[in-house]
Amino acid sequence: MELEDTGFDYSLLSDFRARLVQGDAADRLLRVMLTRLTEAGLLKAGGRQRTDATYVLAAVRRLSRLELAGESLRAALEELAVIAPEWLQPLIEPEWDKRYGRKIEIRKVPGGPEAVTARAEVFGRDGQKVLAALWSPGAPGRLRTLPQVEVLRQVWVHHYYWDEEGQLRWRDGHALPPASLRFDSPYDTDAHYCTKNGTEWSGYRVHYTETCEEQRPEIVVHVATTIAPVQDGRLTEQIHDELAQAALVPAEHVVDAAYITPARVQRAQQVHGITLLGPIVADHSRQAKSGEGFGKSAFTIDWDRQQATCPRGKTSSQPGTLRIQGHEYLQFRFAKADCLTCPDRHPCTASASGPRSIALLPQPLHEIQVQTASTSRPSSGNDAMPSAPASRRRSPRPSGATAYGVRAIEGSPRRTSSTYSPPWPATSPAPPTGSPKHPEDVHDQAASTPSVPQRPDDS
Ligand code: SF4
Repeated sequence: MELEDTGFDYSLLSDFRARLVQGDAADRLLRVMLTRLTEAGLLKAGGRQRTDATYVLAAVRRLSRLELAGESLRAALEELAVIAPEWLQPLIEPEWDKRYGRKIEIRKVPGGPEAVTARAEVFGRDGQKVLAALWSPGAPGRLRTLPQVEVLRQVWVHHYYWDEEGQLRWRDGHALPPASLRFDSPYDTDAHYCTKNGTEWSGYRVHYTETCEEQRPEIVVHVATTIAPVQDGRLTEQIHDELAQAALVPAEHVVDAAYITPARVQRAQQVHGITLLGPIVADHSRQAKSGEGFGKSAFTIDWDRQQATCPRGKTSSQPGTLRIQGHEYLQFRFAKADCLTCPDRHPCTASASGPRSIALLPQPLHEIQVQTASTSRPSSGNDAMPSAPASRRRSPRPSGATAYGVRAIEGSPRRTSSTYSPPWPATSPAPPTGSPKHPEDVHDQAASTPSVPQRPDDS
């Protein structure tokens, strides 16, 4: 393009972005760019890279649960009205035009939670009528496969249940499937609700990996997009594997705490020769967090004899195993007789009647944990954790970025189960899950926090 060329109108950018989304063109473009930069000597394997994630807002209106139910039914009715108007016509009730004739917007329902439930169950009965008709023997089979009909069916599975009398009921907020399974909008079923560090959004999460070396250009070398609730740590291995495929494996990879565990440090080193750098907490125990009592470091471990010795000189029994959040731990338990009579019992354990126990990773991972915790970033910044460029630092609220141009690698909500068989295929949601306690907390009964983000109740 000549220097005096006036360029193109900015409105074309959205067209260009839409074209990039098709057929993973953005990924192919990134690969071509990285190849050219490598050939030009501006990019090479080794050196230091960093990864961080940010949120991506779905390009859909944020809906409450109640609005979602109404809007899902409205979308299915609109679709059926176009595809099969004669089939739909006999189902339509006089008040449906007022109820579903326009976008469902419900600011506040007077009457509190009972009124919300009552209104939701009106939507529920209307949707049930349509679904039952669709799954009746005489209905055209092709209608059951329409996209908005499938969304309607799944939304009803997620948000309603059948009581013992066979009535369709509105689920309580605590009885919903995880946010990663249920829809936030009938118009983008890959958009999911998430909350992190006080920020809540519906959409996706995108992970950028870029080079970060002195006197070298900062170049994005990897981009991965997930549904919003996918935890950052699930991407660490994938990023390393894909960087290896692109021959762009770094020597050092700097990440925040969400991406790093001792097991990931070990794999990165063993599989790719990458030194994974980031803040690892050496001790999750209540005592270490509060700075009161005996943390793990107060205990001496004899790995050969598989025995721990406490500050009072008492020894543990042979460790049992615990599996928490996919990781195996060794749990060293002390004798109840020793702990009940111990003068240091109060600072050692909060248990009223049980002995102290500590949970440690197996020796190689434990040593990585302790070593990495002592050498990685202190609380007030350090050389190992260069900050992200201003353009990619997280803002306190969602940035307004939308899903265009990012590739979803995990998105399709799975179907879920129910105790009563409806006349249309349904399975009810998985029970809500909570974070298992950290092994150190198992004994001391520390409070757990729900891992499944719940949407605010309708009111
Ligand atoms: S409470 Fe038990 S484990 Fe703790 S110091 Fe006393 S004897 Fe050792």
